[in-house]
Formats: sequence, structure tokens, C-alpha cells
Amino acid sequence: MVFGKKKKKPAEETQAGADGAALPPLEIKTIGIGKDEAQGLMIACRQLPGYPVAIILLANAVSSRADRILIDYSAQGAIARYRIDGVWETLPPMDRPTGDAALVVYKKALGLNPAERKQKQDAKFATNFAGTDWVVSFTSAGVQAGERVLFQIDTKKPTLKTLDDLGMREAMQTTFKGMLNATKGIVLISGPAGQGLPTTWRVSLEAADKFVRDFVSLEYKADPDPEIINVTQNFFDPAVGDGPDTIFEKMLLKQPDVLVMPSLISSYIAERTIDQITKHDKHAITRIVAGDTIDAVIQLLSTYRSEAKDIVKYLSGVLNQRLLRRLCDKCKQPFQPNPQLLQKLGIPAGRVQKLFQPTIPPPPEQRVDAKGNQIEIEICKKCNGRGYYGRMAIFELLTVDDTMRQAILKLAGNPDELRKFAKQRGHLGFQEEGVLACALGLTSLQEVQKMLSGK
Ligand SMILES: [Zn+2]
Repeated sequence: MVFGKKKKKPAEETQAGADGAALPPLEIKTIGIGKDEAQGLMIACRQLPGYPVAIILLANAVSSRADRILIDYSAQGAIARYRIDGVWETLPPMDRPTGDAALVVYKKALGLNPAERKQKQDAKFATNFAGTDWVVSFTSAGVQAGERVLFQIDTKKPTLKTLDDLGMREAMQTTFKGMLNATKGIVLISGPAGQGLPTTWRVSLEAADKFVRDFVSLEYKADPDPEIINVTQNFFDPAVGDGPDTIFEKMLLKQPDVLVMPSLISSYIAERTIDQITKHDKHAITRIVAGDTIDAVIQLLSTYRSEAKDIVKYLSGVLNQRLLRRLCDKCKQPFQPNPQLLQKLGIPAGRVQKLFQPTIPPPPEQRVDAKGNQIEIEICKKCNGRGYYGRMAIFELLTVDDTMRQAILKLAGNPDELRKFAKQRGHLGFQEEGVLACALGLTSLQEVQKMLSGK
């Protein structure tokens, strides 16, 4: 267990479990109820038989950097999984009474009904572990086989703040910042669903120079983006009669310089945005869910058909991204790639001397010699034998100049041809960017192949 390896905490910081063993110091502070009530619930929960398992389950998840815990309850027992760096890991199965007892603790601590195993119940709680504040969203709901429980674990303060943090290479940062800080144009930020697009959007806006120019955003009240310093948020809320058109026009009265549009919303607003760019030299930054930069352009144009020509006229750059796992720098192993492999990857001979692969120890049952004796294998302390530590983004940045604009208009119905055209002009796609990250020793070919096959 992870705790055995951690530095010992002073006695007063640990909590005693039901069997007297020291437990990690972790509180469940329910959000949305009074402090006294939350404390009362916590004291009551400490007496419950499932408390040690409940606390260890969460503490192990956080210390292994998991951002999700999923527990499936069925007649056979309870199976918990952690999601670490985007990959699900299954924990040893729990018997049903053990799993049930742990769940009762969370439901009681969060003011939910432990007896309710069918209807959806959810609540949020705050916790602190290893010096970091965490916010955890808890959801339980009945499913066909029994009950499913999900913990979504987020840091309270975003840890990824700069394009550097996201892993964007320096030359690309310079080009991308040039696009963000230009006057009069459209920058499109895109990515597939579930690949960190909201984070890239936030960090990109953080990277833009907002001190000399006024940035305003138009957002849906029911689904707002996180607040960003020096971006004035404007919310539309059709439920109370504040439609997007009205709020957009009000927003323009303040004569902003840059329009931050998480979505162009409607044909009307797309047209008005273009109008602002044409007549008043405004700049616009918008966003779309798409698989790559070419896909993003095509989707934007097919969504706003009647404004397509103008959108292309002002489009200056398109960013897209994918997430993959970063190799653990403590245990990654260099290897000399054979020439056939390099050729397959499109790397010219002699360019890359070594690539890296993860160190993944064999499972415990295979750590035996010919006589069946246990062999001691040293497991990397940093990644716990996963071979990877943390994630990184691979970016694809399409620069749109006049030649590219003509190609987009001509080839919008044929994405593959458009991709080919961009590549001929030196545009680097995910494959090229991924191989570059491998050559820098940041990730493995397996991760790049997984990314390219869309898994
Ligand atoms: Zn390692």
C-alpha cells in the first residue's frame, strides 16, 4: 500500500481507525452545509465500521494522482477503479459488506441517504491531503447490476497555468501567442471531447496579453467558463429573457478590443462578430470540439454556412490538442531505434539516436525464478512501476495564410485533401508532433500510437 512508503506523520496528525491503526489525516468537509453540522457528521462517521476503508480508498487515490474513483457494486462484491493519467486501474475486489460499509460513511458524511441504492444522489466535499486542497464530487446511482459510485477529484486551484505547463514547445508558443495578440482576426481553439480542451482554452486566454486590450466574453449563464483575470464575463440567460443577441449588443457598447466566444452561438452572432472585425478591427477567439485542426475549420464553416467565406477571410490560426502520458523521468529507458522503425515514423536516418520506453515491472505472480522462489525487483518510487508520471498535451497548430485560405475554400468538402495540402506546406500534424515529443524523451511511441488510433 502506498502509505507504507510515505514519511511518518507526527502522531497527533493521524486519526485512529476502528482497529487502532493509524489512518491518513483526511477530513470530509461537506460543501453547502454549516461548519458545525459538517463537523458533527464527521465525528459520527469516525465511529462507523467502514471508516478506515473509506478514508484509505480516497487517500490512496489522491496520493496516486487519481482524478476519478469508480466503484461498481454487484451481487458478487464491489470493484473499485482509479483513473490515473487517463488510464483506469482496477483495485483488488472488496467483498460486499466491506464495500457497503465504506459507502455508508460517504453517504452519511455528505448528508445523503445510505439506504437509497437506486435513485441518483450527489454532493460535493472539500478535503486536504499532502498539503493540497481538493474538491470531490460524489455521485451514486442504481444501475442494472447494482449501484455505481463515482468520485471526481479536482484540485481547488488550477495547477496548469502556462503553455509551458501544458507542454507546448517554445517555437509553437511564440507563433500561437502572435496569433492571440494580433489585431483583427479569428483564432480557433479546438480539441476532441474529454482531452483537456477547457484547460487549453483557459491557459490560452491567460497567455494572451490582456493589459493593453479589453477582453470580453459572451457565455451561457447555465454553463459558464471559469473566471479569468482581465476577461470581463457577460452572461446570457434565455430563461429570464436575456437572449444572447441582446447581451452581445450590450457588450459591444463598451467597445472591447477582443471578443472571447466559447461558441459563436448563432448565425446572427457569427455575422455580427465578423462585422465587428471588418468595420471596427476587433479580434475574436473562439472554440469548437473537433478531432484535429482541419476538422475544426470544417466544422466551424459547416456550422455557420452563410458566414463561412468571411470566417475564412479572417481566420489566422487553429490550435488542436490531444493528451497522452508523460514517461517517468526517473525510470524511462533509452533504446536505439532500428532504421526500419525510424523510416516508418518518417524520421530521416541519423536524426534520432535514441528513443525512450517505460520501465514496467512484471506482475507479482511472475516475479519468481525457475524454482518458484520470489525475486526481489526494485519498483520505481516515483511512478510506482507505472512507467509514466503525469500527462502532457500534444498540440497541432495550423497557421492560416492567404494560400491556406484559398485551399480551405476549395477543399472544405475534402478534409483528407486539405490535410495533405497543409502537410505539403510544412504543417506538422499529431503524428509529426508526437514523434518530436518521443525524440525529446517526453513520451513513448506506444503513447503516440495510442493517440493516433484515437484510443
Ligand atoms: Zn518511474
